Amino acid sequence: MKSAATRRPSATERALTRVVTATPLLEGAGFPVRRPVPQAGLIQVDPFLLLDHMGPVDWAPGEALGAPDHPHRGFETVTYLLEGRMQHRDSAGHVAELGPGDVQWMTAGGGIVHSELPHPEFKAAGGRLHGFQIWVNLPSHRKMTSPRYQGRPAGEIPTARNSDGRVTVKVIAGESMGVRGTVDTHNPITYLHFTLQPGATLVQPLSAANNALVYVFAGRARVGHEAHMVVEGQMAMLGSGDGVPLAADPSAASVAELLLLAGRPLGEPVVRHGPFVMNTREQIQEAIRDYQAGRMA
Ligand code: MN
Repeated sequence: MKSAATRRPSATERALTRVVTATPLLEGAGFPVRRPVPQAGLIQVDPFLLLDHMGPVDWAPGEALGAPDHPHRGFETVTYLLEGRMQHRDSAGHVAELGPGDVQWMTAGGGIVHSELPHPEFKAAGGRLHGFQIWVNLPSHRKMTSPRYQGRPAGEIPTARNSDGRVTVKVIAGESMGVRGTVDTHNPITYLHFTLQPGATLVQPLSAANNALVYVFAGRARVGHEAHMVVEGQMAMLGSGDGVPLAADPSAASVAELLLLAGRPLGEPVVRHGPFVMNTREQIQEAIRDYQAGRMA
């Protein structure tokens, strides 16, 4: 008989299940992104369909590129800008500017046509563009919901700092270190931006029912129960459990910055076709017909 005294110090801490490296590619009219998901063999991290790390890219005056008019159906696009200036326009009548630290949570739902372009003044002057776009899937019964736009300027993103000052978090959605994001999501979503000074350590609580991933975009961080080192440009997927341990080595040469995304998996079929993500091929054909007939604009 085995001893019952086997030590289980933290049975609910999540362990890494997989680490992938973001793929560099050009998106829109030709701006550089690094994309950990989707990629070959990884269609999604349910409910997250896409994570694009935009730049950082230093545009010369007049050369910045974006994504001119294009449609979406069946999910939400969430843009979080760190540096630069962008301009958004969509067929639902929303016109908005995004600057450093601003968030745009757009529900495409049944259909929208939008443009995501460098702000004209930013384009003329040139400068650094750096940020993220994620695609959050919608459950089948919400895929055709009305488009919705939730803009959150940087000053309205709740932030928190831990007691030793080594951990700071910006809460775009969900909750961390006692503060709660204000974006309304169709499905419970956690979207956190952590900055870890050398020697930082924390455990981020998460609902056990949620899938979770960590994307490191500066420096390196230790992630998960085994404190696996994850470096800039890598995405770690996490197994089951209640909390995600995160840490930066005391000897680290620079801060670590990372995104932690978590959400309840939908567990539904995913059929992707460019800017449309539905549950069946027939729904994709319908989306293409509706777009071509001008029914999304
Ligand atoms: Mn778009």
